[in-house]
Amino acid sequence: MKFNNNLDDFDALGNEHIGTSENTPMRRDAFKLSNEEKIDIIKDDVRHIMETLGLDLTDDSLKGTPNRVAKMFVKEIFGGLDPDKKPSASTFENKYKYGEMLVEKNITVYSTCEHHLLPIVGKAHIAYISNGTVVGLSKMNRVVDYFAKRPQVQERLTIQIVRELQEVLRTKDVACVIDAKHLCVNSRGIRDIESSTVTSEFGGKFKDMATRREFLDYIKLDTQF
Ligand SMILES: [Zn+2]
Repeated sequence: MKFNNNLDDFDALGNEHIGTSENTPMRRDAFKLSNEEKIDIIKDDVRHIMETLGLDLTDDSLKGTPNRVAKMFVKEIFGGLDPDKKPSASTFENKYKYGEMLVEKNITVYSTCEHHLLPIVGKAHIAYISNGTVVGLSKMNRVVDYFAKRPQVQERLTIQIVRELQEVLRTKDVACVIDAKHLCVNSRGIRDIESSTVTSEFGGKFKDMATRREFLDYIKLDTQF
């Protein structure tokens, strides 16, 4: 897409849910303010939005909303913008020499669409083939959660998860598939309740069709517990 720095172009880009880069676009001064200072500013901004919409913020039910939303933005749903929150890179040596594929599937994804600030809810499935290094299983859930807690584009989220695990596991052989519903598509605009979006990133050996097929077959397994 060509940009003329025209607001309509950016509007179209957002409506089509197209992201511009693999890294989350951040300002240089992103961490100049403390979390408490950010909450203070955002609180006033949320109050301003609500008042502009005509809401009476002296009502007991609405009074606490600006502060609640500001805290939720900074500490919870966008907490993954803070590099200090990145899960630690503890890995183990692959002592039992398990050289097959390991798949962690149905990892819950709660993220936020960066174009509408509405929820993205779905499942991530991750696989890797150990190169001698392994990670605890919950590590994969934590990596998903960390990158999901940002304003996101699903394609970027998928890539960021794979890049991080490639680095931690010191191998290219990592893959991720995400199947998620975007509330901005399901609840507004085209209002399609049934549709979901599937994105994938296949690194290293997963570019090979047989390996990729094996991973996708494991995802389809419907074990009853
Ligand atoms: Zn959206």
